[in-house]
Amino acid sequence: MPHTPASTRTTVRRGANRAVYDDDRIRSILSAGLIAHVGVATADGPIVLPMAYGVRPVVASTSDGDADGGDGHEVLVHGAVANAMLRAGRTVDVCVTVTIVDGLVVARTPFHNSMNYRSVVIRGTATAIDDPDERLAALRVINDHIAPVWDTARPPSASDVKKTLVLAVPLTEASAKIRAGDPIDEDGDMDGPHWAGLVPLGTRWGEPTTAADLRCDAAVPDAVSALAGRDAHAAN
Ligand SMILES: Cc1cc2nc3c(=O)[nH]c(=O)nc-3n(C[C@H](O)[C@H](O)[C@H](O)COP(=O)(O)OP(=O)(O)OC[C@H]3O[C@@H](n4cnc5c(N)ncnc54)[C@H](O)[C@@H]3O)c2cc1C
Repeated sequence: MPHTPASTRTTVRRGANRAVYDDDRIRSILSAGLIAHVGVATADGPIVLPMAYGVRPVVASTSDGDADGGDGHEVLVHGAVANAMLRAGRTVDVCVTVTIVDGLVVARTPFHNSMNYRSVVIRGTATAIDDPDERLAALRVINDHIAPVWDTARPPSASDVKKTLVLAVPLTEASAKIRAGDPIDEDGDMDGPHWAGLVPLGTRWGEPTTAADLRCDAAVPDAVSALAGRDAHAAN
C-alpha cells in the first residue's frame, strides 16, 4: 500500500494531521487491536457487529498473485454461515474498523475533550473463502491473532469448518488515525483556572483460571500463560 491514501473515500479530511496510510503502521495497529467492528448495509438496514479478526498476507486463492505478502494483506473475519451480516458482506462493500483507546484527554473546556487513540478503517468488498482447507488456514489466523493457541487445542472438525463462513477483506483501502498527547486548548483558555491533562488507559491480561469442569491434568498452554500481565494493546 502506498503511504498516501488509496482512494478518495479513504482520505482523512477531519484531523488530517493524524492520518496514517503506511501499511506497516496500519498493520501494527491491527496487530495490537482485539476487536473489529464490521459494518454492512443489509436488506433490513445497516448493521455493525463486533468480531474477532486476523490479518495475513493475501494468498493465491483470494488474489491473482503470490502468497508472499507481495500482493498486500487481508483482514479475515468469521462467523456462522447463517450470520446475516457476513452473508450480506460478501457481495457488497463492508467497512471494518479497529479502535484502541489509549487514554482520556481532559481539556480546559469540554468542547476540546478527546481521547488518545489508534484506529483503522478499512473499506472494500469481502470475498468468502470457500475451499475448506483454506478456510481452516484462515480460521487459524483469526484464532491465533491474540495468542497462538491453535496447536494446543483439539483441531476443528470438518463439520465445524463447514458451519463457519470466513470473509477476507483486502487491506488496500485503509486509513489509520492516531491521536497522542496533551489536550489542544484555545489561546484564550490557557491562563484560565481550569485543569487540563491526560488519563492513560491500560488494558492488561490477567492470570488464566482453569475451567471448573476440566477433567484432565493438562497444563496451561505456554501461549496462554504468556498473556498474563501483558499489555493487551501493545504496539508491535
Ligand atoms: C475512540 C475515538 C473516539 C472518537 N470520538 C469522536 C466523536 O465523539 N465525534 C467525532 O466527530 N469524531 C470522533 N472520533 C473521530 C472519528 O472517528 C472521525 O475521524 C471524525 O468524526 C471525522 O469523521 P469524518 O467522516 O468527518 O471524517 P473524514 O475525514 O471525512 O473521513 C474520510 C475518511 O477518512 C477515514 N477515517 C475517518 N475517521 C477515521 C478514523 N478514526 N480512523 C481511521 N480512518 C478514519 C475513513 O476512510 C473515512 O471514510 C473518534 C475517534 C476515535 C478513535
